[in-house]
Amino acid sequence: MSELNFSKDKKLILSLIQPTGNSFTLGNYIGAISNWDKLQSEYNCVYGIADLHAITVRQDPAELRKNSLRAYASMLACGIDPQRSVAFFQSHNKCHAELSWVLGCSTQFGELSRMTQFKDKSAKHADNINAGLFTYPVLMAADILAYNADLVPIGIDQKQHLELARNIAQRFNQKYGDFFTLPEPYIPKTGEKVMSLQDPAKKMSKSDENPNACIFILDDKDTVIRKFKRAVTDSEAEVRYAEGKGGINNLMTIYSCFTGKNYSEIESEFSGRGYGDFKLAVGETVADRLEPIRNEFNRLINDKAYLKECYTEGAQRAQSITQRTISKVYHKVGFVDAR
Ligand code: AMP
Repeated sequence: MSELNFSKDKKLILSLIQPTGNSFTLGNYIGAISNWDKLQSEYNCVYGIADLHAITVRQDPAELRKNSLRAYASMLACGIDPQRSVAFFQSHNKCHAELSWVLGCSTQFGELSRMTQFKDKSAKHADNINAGLFTYPVLMAADILAYNADLVPIGIDQKQHLELARNIAQRFNQKYGDFFTLPEPYIPKTGEKVMSLQDPAKKMSKSDENPNACIFILDDKDTVIRKFKRAVTDSEAEVRYAEGKGGINNLMTIYSCFTGKNYSEIESEFSGRGYGDFKLAVGETVADRLEPIRNEFNRLINDKAYLKECYTEGAQRAQSITQRTISKVYHKVGFVDAR
């Protein structure tokens, strides 16, 4: 195994992503993974595929395995460097589940009952309100605290969970002496929310039933351009960022993320030109950015031996950080030392 090359002077940032679906969406890319890439020079980064979290909803085992591997390959294709960062599968590091059990014993039923995501997800999966869905935030706390992460990039929907992780850490520290780092949310500078191309009031999501609503990072050029051409806009013809123009605002946000241009620059660029031109420009820009990612993904997914080398090493490096945490936690709570 190559040495874990984390610098003592850098903060540790941790982010996991669920392997659901065949591919990440443009929303995942802009809102999360493209930032992960940039963070690698500034922080010690731990990036993982959250397969333990994924089984809180029903999964077909063969699909889950395939999607997990595709998610891992996508992560590398998007620029995550498995030498510089820890890139691993959550299930390959048993410390997550072990710490989750200990932390669960100091988390109250009432606290977990208040989690809005639990309420939402149990409404959505009414026939499978399992204990894992309920204790999901405890596992998330364990993911973070096992590495003593300083920062966690989160979307608005995870804010409550991070707050809970901090409360659990604080409680543990009060009882057993200062130990866990209290994680802070990391709000990326360019953490834009990408909306559905068919209903700009809704977040772009892989679970959208309308295939034109969502761009996948592995979509080919024609598909990307076609989906942008069909994007819902409004009855005006002016490319302008304004209230009530959700569709155009969303396209402008996407274009801005990929070109670095601000809204007024985009407005000037497309002044006097119709929506058709603008949609085509956005489609081509996105497709051009995604093309090398898709090519790299195709190369990686056909090199299973290389992927295995990367994730095996990723798991070992993850364990080398968290094993120390779990040994100390076990000692602190009063377990007989194993060695
Ligand atoms: P999810 O696939 O919903 O579990 O999200 C994984 C990560 O991608 C999280 O950090 C989300 O905040 C981010 N993400 C998902 N969808 C979007 C979106 N439409 N716009 C921006 N970020 C998103």
